[in-house]
Amino acid sequence: MAIDPVCGMEVDEKKAASKEYKGKKYYFCSPTCQWAFEMKPEQFVKE
Ligand SMILES: [Zn+2]
Repeated sequence: MAIDPVCGMEVDEKKAASKEYKGKKYYFCSPTCQWAFEMKPEQFVKE
């Protein structure tokens, strides 16, 4: 399982929407979370 960085929910990598950011892949529970991440990725990614 992966963790949706936006809402903190566990998501199934096989079914979830994904987005690569700075070489790391992130998974989302819904298009809404994916959209929020794409708007402000730096807000959800801890370096
Ligand atoms: Zn989510």
